[in-house]
Amino acid sequence: MTDPRFRQLPSVNEVLETPTVQALAHDHDHALLVAAIRRELADLRQRFRQDDTHDGSTGALAVAQRLVERLGRELRPKLRPVINATGIVLHTNLGRAPIAEEAALAAGEAARGYLNLELDLDSGKRSSRQNAIRDWVCRLTGAASATAVNNNAAATVIVLRALCQGKEVVLSRGQLIEIGGSFRIPEIMAVSGAVLREVGTTNITRLADYERALGPNTGALMQVHSSNYRISGFTKAVPLADLVALGKKHGLPVLDDAGSGALLDFARFGFHGEPVARQSIATGADLVLFSGDKLLGGPQAGIIAGRKELVQKIEKDPLMRAFRLDKMTLAALETTLRLYLNEEQALQAIPGLRMLGMPVEELRRRAQALAEQLQAVDGVATATVRADVAYVGGGSLPDQTMPAWVVEVEARACSDADLARRLRLGTPAVVARLRNGKVVFDVRTVFPQQETALVEAVRQALALPVAPV
Ligand SMILES: *Cc1c(COP(=O)(O)O)cnc(C)c1O
Repeated sequence: MTDPRFRQLPSVNEVLETPTVQALAHDHDHALLVAAIRRELADLRQRFRQDDTHDGSTGALAVAQRLVERLGRELRPKLRPVINATGIVLHTNLGRAPIAEEAALAAGEAARGYLNLELDLDSGKRSSRQNAIRDWVCRLTGAASATAVNNNAAATVIVLRALCQGKEVVLSRGQLIEIGGSFRIPEIMAVSGAVLREVGTTNITRLADYERALGPNTGALMQVHSSNYRISGFTKAVPLADLVALGKKHGLPVLDDAGSGALLDFARFGFHGEPVARQSIATGADLVLFSGDKLLGGPQAGIIAGRKELVQKIEKDPLMRAFRLDKMTLAALETTLRLYLNEEQALQAIPGLRMLGMPVEELRRRAQALAEQLQAVDGVATATVRADVAYVGGGSLPDQTMPAWVVEVEARACSDADLARRLRLGTPAVVARLRNGKVVFDVRTVFPQQETALVEAVRQALALPVAPV
């Protein structure tokens, strides 16, 4: 038995012929429209079956209107700009480091046109795409050579594969880290074909532990920066300088996975213990590996800097082709590296560095101004300013906080989780933190030019009906 109400529904053709859908026909494929109308009608039948009281009429025009809304939802881009109000500067789920305006422009230009990616303009001969970054990385780190791949995970794999396949790589148990998203040192080691030789214990590793592990099949000594965790208390780790001396004595390369890729000393921002690439090379590491999109503030990349013959060997590995950077990333990376030639310029132009260096007084002033604007939004019960703390994120400096200023918002007729969801689904999307029933906006990671849009996003979120369908 068919539900008699089914007969009230318009046919696909009736909906197609409404002026509303005719207007859509300019921008949308016919087959796509027909399929969407079928889905809309099927949904209505389903609601009849479930005895759901559907909102509005089921006439052709009403169905056409629902179709417009459906297409608007379904055909939205999946990747959307987000206002990051979490205060987490390197938020991996939000794309880690925002890159400098100059770098974004360079990537756009590279994307739109042609460039001398693998052509030496002087000789007219074929060249390496790595030349675009090699010289800059060398200047900034003091290394003799350098190359770049897709990310630091790829850098680790290709370094171990090219230099240590079938050989043992000696590494402290205290450094067998996992970085989020299934990057685990033992597993990376396994796919590279190198053999992990763990030494020491979780909290204590001495030089003698490394020394005892050396044998005819040792390929390298490795150090991995414990980026996202800290061991405190009764601990001992071997300084890089001692590993370098041991490597020299036995003719073994020392590989330093520095993680974040700080090109300048983060002590200026009050952060301590983050390795600086130049320091690692100066100490004598044969290769230092780091990410492009963490503290460096560039695009996603993995940079390998160090001895020339090792870099050459890595570049000859067949995986290089699979891991190499594309023209847009190379253009953005080169531009970012060149900004560091003048430290003051880097601090101003690279958003992550600018955010980390923002004076607390300025954060307080911005939070105050934002709170005043939010308080005036319809539906906001309270918008209060308070001092807080925040983390850098991106698996960097997990034990060190920075002072922050936040605005805590409570809505009149909408829970904190509901408001947060509405903000995530708005345009632009806003991602904030939740705490004690309030939505917390940290101004550090909100670009000053986004403040108006943020207030507008809250206004729109609170203007929605109480239970949105
Ligand atoms: C982040 C990190 C990685 C992974 O880097 P990606 O660029 O995200 O692939 C590897 N090693 C260390 C020590 C890290 O901190």
